Amino acid sequence: MNATAPQLNLAPLLDVHSVCKSFRKPDGDQLVVLEDVNLTLRPGEIVGLLGRSGSGKSTLLRSIAGLDGPTSGVVNYLGQQVSAPARGIAMVFQSFALFPWLTVLENVQLGLEALGVPEPEMRKRSLQAIDLIGLDGFESAYPRELSGGMRQRVGFARALVVHPNILLMDEPFSALDVLTAETLRSDFLDLWGEGQLPIKAVLLVTHNIEEAVQMCDRLLIFSSNPGRVASEIPIDLPQPRHTQDPRFRALIERVYVEMTARPRGEPRTGPKSERFPGTGIGTTLTHVSSNVLTGLLEAVNEPPYNGKADLPVIAEEQHLEVDELFPAAEALQLLRFAEVEGGDMKLTEAGLQFARGETDDRKKLFARHLITYVPLAAHVRRVLDERASHTAPKSRFFDELEDYMAEDAAEQTLRTIISWGRYAEVFAYDDNRQAFSLENPA
Ligand code: ADP
Ligand code: MG
Repeated sequence: MNATAPQLNLAPLLDVHSVCKSFRKPDGDQLVVLEDVNLTLRPGEIVGLLGRSGSGKSTLLRSIAGLDGPTSGVVNYLGQQVSAPARGIAMVFQSFALFPWLTVLENVQLGLEALGVPEPEMRKRSLQAIDLIGLDGFESAYPRELSGGMRQRVGFARALVVHPNILLMDEPFSALDVLTAETLRSDFLDLWGEGQLPIKAVLLVTHNIEEAVQMCDRLLIFSSNPGRVASEIPIDLPQPRHTQDPRFRALIERVYVEMTARPRGEPRTGPKSERFPGTGIGTTLTHVSSNVLTGLLEAVNEPPYNGKADLPVIAEEQHLEVDELFPAAEALQLLRFAEVEGGDMKLTEAGLQFARGETDDRKKLFARHLITYVPLAAHVRRVLDERASHTAPKSRFFDELEDYMAEDAAEQTLRTIISWGRYAEVFAYDDNRQAFSLENPA
């Protein structure tokens, strides 16, 4: 029995309306991270926000918690606009900065000190939170004496001790090993289902699809560049949910379909398109090694897939997390080695040829596609060809990319181009001198 069934008839606890968030880049331009984000959270709900690294999920949570206001739009909590850290909204992070010189109890009490709760009450509530989250007997332990999973439990206790209406969770299980994460997740769900948690609703940020389908009443699929809610998927399976249940697998499949519906980096239409001018070099490339790309092409080519595979199945087989699988799938699409549609990956003629080819043929094919379909690679090669020295510092391209993207994205994009260019022997790169050259290529 779920004591905390979503109460959809009640007024929302949280209403995020048209939230946009931009940061100023070093060159003075705006980096738009969130664009027109809308969501509500009602009593009794666990809502999942599923998106990739860098899509703005943490930025959104910070806005909701009142830690860093949106550039435009409003966050309403209990009908009031949030403009400073809101009481009643607590956050669980991927990992907590626990104070090493404070005991578990003292670390948990920190959550209450700002609220001016009297000492005996503070101690009582902290001990309750510690018991609840399964740390009974460890009140006097120091963080260094605890395992990673137990330290994360201290973090949960610190958030729960304030009895928040809303618990925001930012990838709370992703720093833990698989088994520890599973245990903590199911403990959390049990407590939630029994109505034991002193909270009314949860917003869970994750990039783990199984975790999202396991825990949430509905999922919001978050797109990247800029971050916005692209679609919503209700999960109406009773708890506890079993990962091998066909209905569970069908929902996983559906999430994959939604998440691959529009590849990142695809030209956008509408008023924002001027942020992606026609030169085409301004596309952020997520780093995927040529090994991962090669492995994926080979796997999809092999029986029983023979050139077409279900993404969730291949992800599991190749032990790829969403954060690796989707960028790899996009890279293969960008290079025209594969197409992704309806949650399936299908190799193109070139993709099949690659998978079946010998090393040298593969490199030649990769080189041709790299130059043809990845404008930045063509650009780097052209610059090197034209210069008498046939060398160019990395900074030259970094500066150019920074007109289009944030510093970290530019760094990653260059890293990607360097590794793909090296693999295909389209150009060389000297790590010490931080310079491209045509040294190795014939
Ligand atoms: P996620 O949590 O989905 O991985 P984040 O919200 O952490 O994504 O970051 C989204 C984007 O916003 C990234 O490109 C990041 O570099 C940028 N960003 C986040 N915070 C800041 C900041 N304070 N200043 C500049 N850029 C930022
Ligand atoms: Mg984050």
